[in-house]
Amino acid sequence: MKNQSLQERKVQAFARGQGNAYQVYVERAQGSEMWDVEGNRYIDFGTGIAVCNTGHSHPKIVEAVKKQVDKFSHTCVMVNPYEVAVELAEKLNAVAPGDSEKRAIFVTTGAEAVENCVKIARAHTGRRGVIAFNGGFHGRTNMTMGLTGKVTPYKNLFGPFPGDIYHAPYPNALHGVSVEDALKGIENLFKATIPAQDVAAIILEPVQGEGGFYAAPVEFMQALRTLCDEHGIVLISDEIQSGFARTGKMFATEYADIEPDLITMAKGIAGGFPLAAVVGKQHIMDASHPGGLGGTYGGSPVSCAAALAVLDIIEEEQLISSANTIGETFLARLNELKAQFPALISEVRAKGAMIALELCEDGDADKPNTHLTQRLIANAAKHGLVLLACGYYGNVIRFLPALTITSQVLEEGLDKFTTLFTEQASV
Ligand code: PMP
Repeated sequence: MKNQSLQERKVQAFARGQGNAYQVYVERAQGSEMWDVEGNRYIDFGTGIAVCNTGHSHPKIVEAVKKQVDKFSHTCVMVNPYEVAVELAEKLNAVAPGDSEKRAIFVTTGAEAVENCVKIARAHTGRRGVIAFNGGFHGRTNMTMGLTGKVTPYKNLFGPFPGDIYHAPYPNALHGVSVEDALKGIENLFKATIPAQDVAAIILEPVQGEGGFYAAPVEFMQALRTLCDEHGIVLISDEIQSGFARTGKMFATEYADIEPDLITMAKGIAGGFPLAAVVGKQHIMDASHPGGLGGTYGGSPVSCAAALAVLDIIEEEQLISSANTIGETFLARLNELKAQFPALISEVRAKGAMIALELCEDGDADKPNTHLTQRLIANAAKHGLVLLACGYYGNVIRFLPALTITSQVLEEGLDKFTTLFTEQASV
Protein backbone atom coordinates (compact mmCIF):
# COMPACT_ATOMS: atom_id res chain seq x y z
CA MET A 1 0.00 0.00 0.00
CA LYS A 2 2.87 2.36 0.75
CA ASN A 3 4.11 2.16 -2.86
CA GLN A 4 0.64 2.93 -4.12
CA SER A 5 0.08 5.87 -1.80
CA LEU A 6 3.49 7.32 -2.69
CA GLN A 7 2.63 6.98 -6.37
CA GLU A 8 -0.66 8.79 -5.76
CA ARG A 9 1.23 11.62 -4.05
CA LYS A 10 3.83 11.68 -6.83
CA VAL A 11 1.17 12.01 -9.52
CA GLN A 12 -0.30 14.97 -7.64
CA ALA A 13 3.11 16.61 -7.19
CA PHE A 14 5.12 15.83 -10.36
CA ALA A 15 4.33 16.92 -13.90
CA ARG A 16 3.37 14.02 -16.18
CA GLY A 17 6.45 14.48 -18.36
CA GLN A 18 8.77 13.14 -15.65
CA GLY A 19 7.20 9.69 -15.50
CA ASN A 20 8.44 6.56 -13.72
CA ALA A 21 8.84 3.04 -15.09
CA TYR A 22 7.99 1.32 -11.79
CA GLN A 23 5.64 2.17 -8.97
CA VAL A 24 8.29 0.84 -6.63
CA TYR A 25 9.66 3.33 -4.12
CA VAL A 26 13.16 2.54 -2.93
CA GLU A 27 13.99 2.35 0.75
CA ARG A 28 17.58 1.16 0.41
CA ALA A 29 19.89 -0.51 -2.07
CA GLN A 30 23.16 -2.39 -1.74
CA GLY A 31 25.26 -3.94 -4.49
CA SER A 32 22.80 -5.42 -7.01
CA GLU A 33 19.87 -5.62 -4.62
CA MET A 34 17.19 -3.09 -3.80
CA TRP A 35 14.42 -3.02 -1.18
CA ASP A 36 11.24 -1.00 -1.48
CA VAL A 37 9.23 0.81 1.20
CA GLU A 38 7.14 -2.34 1.75
CA GLY A 39 10.19 -4.53 2.33
CA ASN A 40 10.08 -6.27 -1.08
CA ARG A 41 13.46 -7.22 -2.55
CA TYR A 42 14.48 -6.66 -6.19
CA ILE A 43 17.47 -7.61 -8.29
CA ASP A 44 18.53 -4.52 -10.19
CA PHE A 45 19.35 -5.15 -13.86
CA GLY A 46 19.06 -1.43 -14.70
CA THR A 47 21.51 0.27 -12.27
CA GLY A 48 19.58 3.55 -12.54
CA ILE A 49 20.23 3.59 -16.31
CA ALA A 50 23.86 2.45 -16.44
CA VAL A 51 24.99 4.62 -13.54
CA CYS A 52 25.81 2.29 -10.65
CA ASN A 53 28.34 0.14 -12.55
CA THR A 54 30.10 -0.28 -9.20
CA GLY A 55 26.86 -1.41 -7.50
CA HIS A 56 24.65 0.51 -5.10
CA SER A 57 26.35 2.17 -2.14
CA HIS A 58 29.77 0.62 -2.68
CA PRO A 59 31.47 1.02 0.74
CA LYS A 60 34.52 2.66 -0.82
CA ILE A 61 32.40 5.31 -2.55
CA VAL A 62 30.33 5.91 0.58
CA GLU A 63 33.51 6.42 2.59
CA ALA A 64 35.07 8.78 0.01
CA VAL A 65 31.89 10.87 -0.16
CA LYS A 66 31.50 11.09 3.62
CA LYS A 67 35.11 12.18 3.97
CA GLN A 68 34.65 14.89 1.35
CA VAL A 69 31.36 16.16 2.81
CA ASP A 70 33.05 16.48 6.19
CA LYS A 71 35.61 18.83 4.61
CA PHE A 72 33.40 20.91 2.26
CA SER A 73 30.77 20.24 -0.37
CA HIS A 74 30.96 23.18 -2.77
CA THR A 75 33.19 26.10 -3.61
CA CYS A 76 32.77 26.02 -7.42
CA VAL A 77 35.71 24.75 -9.42
CA MET A 78 35.63 28.02 -11.42
CA VAL A 79 36.11 30.08 -8.24
CA ASN A 80 38.23 28.15 -5.75
CA PRO A 81 39.27 24.78 -7.20
CA TYR A 82 40.41 21.76 -5.17
CA GLU A 83 42.73 18.79 -5.48
CA VAL A 84 40.13 16.03 -6.03
CA ALA A 85 39.05 17.73 -9.30
CA VAL A 86 42.63 18.15 -10.52
CA GLU A 87 43.47 14.54 -9.67
CA LEU A 88 40.34 13.29 -11.42
CA ALA A 89 41.07 15.33 -14.57
CA GLU A 90 44.61 13.91 -14.63
CA LYS A 91 43.30 10.37 -14.27
CA LEU A 92 40.55 10.75 -16.90
CA ASN A 93 43.05 12.24 -19.36
CA ALA A 94 45.22 9.18 -18.77
CA VAL A 95 42.47 6.54 -19.21
CA ALA A 96 40.79 8.14 -22.25
CA PRO A 97 41.57 6.26 -25.49
CA GLY A 98 44.60 7.33 -27.54
CA ASP A 99 48.06 8.76 -26.90
CA SER A 100 47.49 12.47 -27.66
CA GLU A 101 47.89 14.98 -24.89
CA LYS A 102 44.47 15.53 -23.31
CA ARG A 103 42.53 18.15 -21.40
CA ALA A 104 39.26 17.77 -19.48
CA ILE A 105 36.30 19.86 -18.38
CA PHE A 106 33.66 18.96 -15.81
CA VAL A 107 29.93 19.59 -16.06
CA THR A 108 26.97 18.02 -14.29
CA THR A 109 24.89 15.97 -16.77
CA GLY A 110 25.45 13.94 -19.88
CA ALA A 111 23.47 16.37 -22.01
CA GLU A 112 25.71 19.21 -20.86
CA ALA A 113 28.79 17.22 -21.81
CA VAL A 114 27.38 16.75 -25.33
CA GLU A 115 26.44 20.45 -25.60
CA ASN A 116 29.97 21.40 -24.60
CA CYS A 117 31.46 19.11 -27.25
CA VAL A 118 29.50 21.00 -29.88
CA LYS A 119 30.68 24.34 -28.47
CA ILE A 120 34.30 23.19 -28.42
CA ALA A 121 34.13 21.71 -31.93
CA ARG A 122 32.61 24.91 -33.31
CA ALA A 123 35.16 27.11 -31.52
CA HIS A 124 38.00 24.93 -32.84
CA THR A 125 36.83 24.66 -36.45
CA GLY A 126 34.91 27.91 -36.92
CA ARG A 127 32.28 25.77 -38.67
CA ARG A 128 28.55 25.34 -38.12
CA GLY A 129 27.36 21.82 -39.02
CA VAL A 130 27.00 18.77 -36.76
CA ILE A 131 26.23 15.29 -38.07
CA ALA A 132 24.54 12.77 -35.78
CA PHE A 133 22.92 9.38 -36.44
CA ASN A 134 19.46 7.89 -36.68
CA GLY A 135 18.63 6.04 -33.48
CA GLY A 136 21.20 8.01 -31.48
CA PHE A 137 20.39 9.56 -28.11
CA HIS A 138 22.29 12.52 -26.73
CA GLY A 139 20.02 14.14 -24.12
CA ARG A 140 16.95 16.23 -23.37
CA THR A 141 18.24 19.81 -23.70
CA ASN A 142 17.44 21.74 -26.88
CA MET A 143 20.75 21.07 -28.68
CA THR A 144 20.90 17.44 -27.57
CA MET A 145 17.25 16.80 -28.51
CA GLY A 146 18.17 18.16 -31.92
CA LEU A 147 21.08 15.72 -32.13
CA THR A 148 18.96 12.79 -30.93
CA GLY A 149 17.81 10.58 -33.78
CA LYS A 150 14.64 9.17 -32.25
CA VAL A 151 11.37 11.10 -32.19
CA THR A 152 9.25 9.41 -29.51
CA PRO A 153 9.30 10.25 -26.63
CA TYR A 154 12.21 12.67 -26.90
CA LYS A 155 11.41 15.16 -29.66
CA ASN A 156 7.69 15.28 -30.39
CA LEU A 157 6.07 18.49 -29.11
CA PHE A 158 9.42 20.10 -28.25
CA GLY A 159 10.71 21.76 -31.43
CA PRO A 160 11.98 23.87 -33.03
CA PHE A 161 15.53 22.55 -32.62
CA PRO A 162 18.80 24.35 -33.36
CA GLY A 163 19.81 24.57 -37.01
CA ASP A 164 22.71 22.89 -38.78
CA ILE A 165 22.13 19.43 -37.31
CA TYR A 166 22.01 16.61 -39.86
CA HIS A 167 21.26 12.92 -39.43
CA ALA A 168 22.79 9.97 -41.26
CA PRO A 169 21.92 6.26 -41.05
CA TYR A 170 23.65 4.24 -38.31
CA PRO A 171 24.86 0.81 -39.44
CA ASN A 172 22.52 -1.91 -38.25
CA ALA A 173 22.97 -5.34 -39.82
CA LEU A 174 19.83 -6.79 -38.20
CA HIS A 175 17.68 -4.11 -39.84
CA GLY A 176 19.42 -4.01 -43.20
CA VAL A 177 21.71 -0.97 -42.89
CA SER A 178 25.25 -1.90 -43.97
CA VAL A 179 28.41 0.04 -43.15
CA GLU A 180 28.48 1.03 -46.83
CA ASP A 181 24.90 2.38 -46.62
CA ALA A 182 25.76 4.38 -43.52
CA LEU A 183 28.88 5.91 -45.11
CA LYS A 184 26.91 6.70 -48.26
CA GLY A 185 24.42 8.56 -46.04
CA ILE A 186 27.20 10.92 -44.95
CA GLU A 187 28.47 11.32 -48.52
CA ASN A 188 24.91 12.22 -49.55
CA LEU A 189 24.74 14.89 -46.84
CA PHE A 190 28.00 16.36 -48.17
CA LYS A 191 26.55 16.42 -51.72
CA ALA A 192 22.98 17.50 -51.06
CA THR A 193 22.85 19.38 -47.76
CA ILE A 194 26.08 20.68 -46.25
CA PRO A 195 29.62 20.73 -47.63
CA ALA A 196 32.19 18.76 -45.62
CA GLN A 197 34.19 21.96 -45.03
CA ASP A 198 31.24 23.46 -43.14
CA VAL A 199 30.91 20.47 -40.78
CA ALA A 200 32.35 21.07 -37.30
CA ALA A 201 31.69 17.62 -35.82
CA ILE A 202 30.36 14.12 -36.25
CA ILE A 203 28.95 12.65 -33.04
CA LEU A 204 28.14 9.00 -32.48
CA GLU A 205 27.66 6.48 -29.72
CA PRO A 206 30.06 3.57 -30.29
CA VAL A 207 27.22 1.43 -28.91
CA GLN A 208 23.82 3.09 -29.22
CA GLY A 209 22.15 3.10 -25.81
CA GLU A 210 18.55 4.31 -25.83
CA GLY A 211 18.50 3.38 -29.55
CA GLY A 212 18.71 -0.35 -28.80
CA PHE A 213 22.25 -1.46 -27.88
CA TYR A 214 23.50 -1.68 -31.47
CA ALA A 215 27.31 -1.57 -31.68
CA ALA A 216 28.98 0.30 -34.52
CA PRO A 217 31.16 -2.12 -36.51
CA VAL A 218 34.90 -1.53 -36.13
CA GLU A 219 35.26 -0.74 -39.86
CA PHE A 220 32.60 1.99 -39.54
CA MET A 221 34.36 3.66 -36.61
CA GLN A 222 37.66 3.50 -38.49
CA ALA A 223 36.10 4.89 -41.68
CA LEU A 224 34.65 7.79 -39.67
CA ARG A 225 38.08 8.50 -38.21
CA THR A 226 39.57 8.63 -41.73
CA LEU A 227 36.71 10.78 -43.05
CA CYS A 228 37.05 13.26 -40.16
CA ASP A 229 40.83 13.46 -40.67
CA GLU A 230 40.35 14.07 -44.40
CA HIS A 231 37.94 16.96 -43.86
CA GLY A 232 39.17 18.45 -40.57
CA ILE A 233 35.98 17.39 -38.76
CA VAL A 234 35.98 16.79 -34.98
CA LEU A 235 34.99 13.20 -34.13
CA ILE A 236 32.99 12.99 -30.90
CA SER A 237 32.44 9.67 -29.21
CA ASP A 238 29.46 9.78 -26.83
CA GLU A 239 30.38 7.22 -24.18
CA ILE A 240 27.90 8.44 -21.59
CA GLN A 241 26.17 5.05 -21.43
CA SER A 242 28.96 2.78 -22.72
CA GLY A 243 31.86 4.09 -20.63
CA PHE A 244 33.57 3.05 -17.42
CA ALA A 245 34.09 -0.68 -18.02
CA ARG A 246 30.48 -1.31 -19.05
CA THR A 247 31.30 -2.87 -22.43
CA GLY A 248 34.30 -4.92 -21.34
CA LYS A 249 36.73 -2.12 -22.19
CA MET A 250 37.19 1.08 -20.22
CA PHE A 251 35.56 2.83 -23.22
CA ALA A 252 33.76 1.12 -26.10
CA THR A 253 35.69 3.22 -28.66
CA GLU A 254 38.74 1.09 -27.80
CA TYR A 255 37.21 -1.83 -29.73
CA ALA A 256 37.88 0.12 -32.94
CA ASP A 257 41.41 1.04 -31.93
CA ILE A 258 40.88 4.69 -32.85
CA GLU A 259 41.29 7.91 -30.91
CA PRO A 260 38.24 10.19 -30.98
CA ASP A 261 38.92 13.93 -30.80
CA LEU A 262 36.46 14.43 -27.95
CA ILE A 263 34.80 11.93 -25.65
CA THR A 264 31.82 12.45 -23.37
CA MET A 265 31.66 10.79 -19.96
CA ALA A 266 28.85 10.69 -17.38
CA LYS A 267 26.62 8.06 -15.70
CA GLY A 268 29.08 5.34 -14.52
CA ILE A 269 31.78 7.95 -13.86
CA ALA A 270 30.79 8.64 -10.23
CA GLY A 271 28.65 5.75 -8.97
CA GLY A 272 25.45 7.82 -8.74
CA PHE A 273 26.78 11.27 -7.92
CA PRO A 274 26.04 13.89 -10.58
CA LEU A 275 29.13 14.39 -12.71
CA ALA A 276 29.94 14.53 -16.40
CA ALA A 277 33.08 15.35 -18.33
CA VAL A 278 34.43 16.08 -21.76
CA VAL A 279 37.94 14.78 -22.36
CA GLY A 280 39.72 15.48 -25.62
CA LYS A 281 42.81 16.40 -27.54
CA GLN A 282 44.52 19.40 -25.99
CA HIS A 283 44.66 21.60 -29.10
CA ILE A 284 40.90 21.16 -29.64
CA MET A 285 39.82 21.42 -26.00
CA ASP A 286 41.78 24.67 -25.58
CA ALA A 287 39.90 26.41 -28.43
CA SER A 288 37.57 28.07 -25.93
CA HIS A 289 38.55 31.20 -23.99
CA PRO A 290 38.50 31.04 -20.15
CA GLY A 291 34.96 31.34 -18.82
CA GLY A 292 33.42 29.97 -22.03
CA LEU A 293 32.92 26.47 -20.60
CA GLY A 294 31.73 25.17 -17.24
CA GLY A 295 28.82 25.72 -14.86
CA THR A 296 28.12 26.28 -11.17
CA TYR A 297 28.10 22.62 -10.13
CA GLY A 298 30.43 21.14 -12.76
CA GLY A 299 33.11 19.07 -11.02
CA SER A 300 31.43 19.04 -7.60
CA PRO A 301 34.05 17.96 -5.04
CA VAL A 302 31.67 15.31 -3.68
CA SER A 303 31.17 13.84 -7.16
CA CYS A 304 34.91 14.03 -7.91
CA ALA A 305 35.69 12.15 -4.68
CA ALA A 306 33.16 9.49 -5.69
CA ALA A 307 34.64 9.29 -9.21
CA LEU A 308 38.16 8.75 -7.87
CA ALA A 309 36.80 5.87 -5.79
CA VAL A 310 35.04 4.47 -8.90
CA LEU A 311 38.33 4.43 -10.84
CA ASP A 312 40.04 2.60 -7.96
CA ILE A 313 37.22 0.06 -7.72
CA ILE A 314 37.28 -0.63 -11.47
CA GLU A 315 40.97 -1.46 -11.21
CA GLU A 316 41.05 -3.25 -7.84
CA GLU A 317 38.00 -5.40 -8.52
CA GLN A 318 38.90 -5.94 -12.19
CA LEU A 319 35.51 -4.80 -13.40
CA ILE A 320 36.54 -4.70 -17.07
CA SER A 321 37.07 -8.44 -16.97
CA SER A 322 33.86 -8.91 -14.91
CA ALA A 323 31.88 -7.08 -17.60
CA ASN A 324 32.97 -9.69 -20.13
CA THR A 325 32.17 -12.63 -17.83
CA ILE A 326 28.75 -11.17 -17.02
CA GLY A 327 28.06 -10.66 -20.73
CA GLU A 328 28.97 -14.28 -21.50
CA THR A 329 26.71 -15.58 -18.73
CA PHE A 330 23.80 -13.51 -20.05
CA LEU A 331 24.47 -14.58 -23.65
CA ALA A 332 24.40 -18.27 -22.73
CA ARG A 333 21.14 -18.01 -20.78
CA LEU A 334 19.39 -15.66 -23.22
CA ASN A 335 20.38 -17.83 -26.19
CA GLU A 336 18.70 -20.78 -24.44
CA LEU A 337 15.53 -18.66 -24.34
CA LYS A 338 15.97 -17.77 -28.00
CA ALA A 339 16.21 -21.47 -28.90
CA GLN A 340 13.00 -22.04 -26.95
CA PHE A 341 11.15 -19.01 -28.39
CA PRO A 342 12.58 -18.47 -31.89
CA ALA A 343 9.42 -16.68 -33.10
CA LEU A 344 9.66 -14.05 -30.35
CA ILE A 345 13.39 -13.31 -30.11
CA SER A 346 15.16 -11.92 -33.15
CA GLU A 347 18.56 -11.33 -31.59
CA VAL A 348 20.55 -11.63 -28.40
CA ARG A 349 23.60 -9.37 -28.35
CA ALA A 350 26.15 -8.09 -25.88
CA LYS A 351 29.20 -5.86 -25.74
CA GLY A 352 30.54 -6.85 -22.35
CA ALA A 353 27.74 -6.15 -19.87
CA MET A 354 25.71 -3.97 -22.26
CA ILE A 355 23.31 -6.75 -23.09
CA ALA A 356 20.17 -6.76 -25.23
CA LEU A 357 17.31 -9.09 -26.09
CA GLU A 358 15.41 -7.92 -29.18
CA LEU A 359 11.79 -9.07 -29.47
CA CYS A 360 9.87 -9.72 -32.66
CA GLU A 361 6.81 -11.46 -34.05
CA ASP A 362 6.82 -14.53 -36.32
CA GLY A 363 10.61 -14.78 -36.10
CA ASP A 364 10.86 -11.66 -38.30
CA ALA A 365 13.27 -8.99 -36.99
CA ASP A 366 11.34 -6.37 -38.96
CA LYS A 367 8.15 -7.05 -37.00
CA PRO A 368 9.02 -5.44 -33.64
CA ASN A 369 7.17 -6.91 -30.67
CA THR A 370 6.66 -3.81 -28.54
CA HIS A 371 3.68 -5.36 -26.72
CA LEU A 372 5.71 -8.21 -25.28
CA THR A 373 8.50 -5.76 -24.36
CA GLN A 374 6.01 -3.59 -22.48
CA ARG A 375 4.46 -6.61 -20.72
CA LEU A 376 7.88 -7.80 -19.55
CA ILE A 377 8.61 -4.38 -18.05
CA ALA A 378 5.11 -4.10 -16.55
CA ASN A 379 5.42 -7.48 -14.83
CA ALA A 380 9.10 -7.42 -13.85
CA ALA A 381 8.54 -5.96 -10.38
CA LYS A 382 6.14 -8.78 -9.44
CA HIS A 383 9.04 -11.15 -10.09
CA GLY A 384 11.45 -9.06 -8.02
CA LEU A 385 13.31 -7.63 -11.00
CA VAL A 386 14.15 -4.16 -12.29
CA LEU A 387 14.45 -4.23 -16.09
CA LEU A 388 14.70 -1.48 -18.70
CA ALA A 389 13.53 -1.31 -22.30
CA CYS A 390 15.03 0.64 -25.19
CA GLY A 391 15.17 0.55 -28.96
CA TYR A 392 14.48 2.51 -32.09
CA TYR A 393 11.40 0.29 -32.39
CA GLY A 394 10.75 0.07 -28.62
CA ASN A 395 11.24 -3.71 -28.66
CA VAL A 396 14.49 -4.30 -26.82
CA ILE A 397 15.02 -5.39 -23.23
CA ARG A 398 18.38 -4.02 -22.11
CA PHE A 399 20.33 -5.48 -19.22
CA LEU A 400 22.76 -3.23 -17.37
CA PRO A 401 23.70 -5.16 -14.23
CA ALA A 402 26.25 -3.81 -11.78
CA LEU A 403 29.71 -5.06 -12.74
CA THR A 404 30.17 -6.06 -9.10
CA ILE A 405 27.19 -8.46 -9.18
CA THR A 406 27.90 -11.81 -7.51
CA SER A 407 27.40 -14.94 -9.62
CA GLN A 408 24.73 -16.09 -7.16
CA VAL A 409 22.60 -12.93 -7.55
CA LEU A 410 23.23 -12.92 -11.29
CA GLU A 411 21.95 -16.51 -11.68
CA GLU A 412 18.99 -15.75 -9.44
CA GLY A 413 18.12 -12.72 -11.57
CA LEU A 414 18.40 -14.75 -14.76
CA ASP A 415 16.14 -17.46 -13.27
CA LYS A 416 13.58 -14.78 -12.44
CA PHE A 417 13.82 -13.36 -15.96
CA THR A 418 13.37 -16.81 -17.53
CA THR A 419 10.23 -17.37 -15.44
CA LEU A 420 8.89 -13.92 -16.33
CA PHE A 421 9.59 -14.39 -20.04
CA THR A 422 8.03 -17.85 -20.15
CA GLU A 423 4.93 -16.53 -18.37
CA GLN A 424 4.54 -13.50 -20.67
CA ALA A 425 5.36 -15.37 -23.89
CA SER A 426 2.23 -17.45 -23.45
CA VAL A 427 -0.15 -14.59 -22.59
N1 PMP B 1 24.18 10.47 -24.29
C1 PMP B 1 23.93 9.17 -24.08
C2 PMP B 1 24.59 8.16 -24.96
C3 PMP B 1 23.06 8.76 -23.07
O1 PMP B 1 22.80 7.45 -22.87
C4 PMP B 1 22.46 9.75 -22.24
C5 PMP B 1 21.51 9.37 -21.10
N2 PMP B 1 20.74 8.27 -21.30
C6 PMP B 1 22.76 11.10 -22.47
C7 PMP B 1 23.62 11.42 -23.51
C8 PMP B 1 22.17 12.20 -21.63
O2 PMP B 1 22.66 12.14 -20.33
P1 PMP B 1 21.89 12.91 -19.12
O3 PMP B 1 20.57 12.22 -18.95
O4 PMP B 1 22.81 12.76 -17.94
O5 PMP B 1 21.73 14.32 -19.55
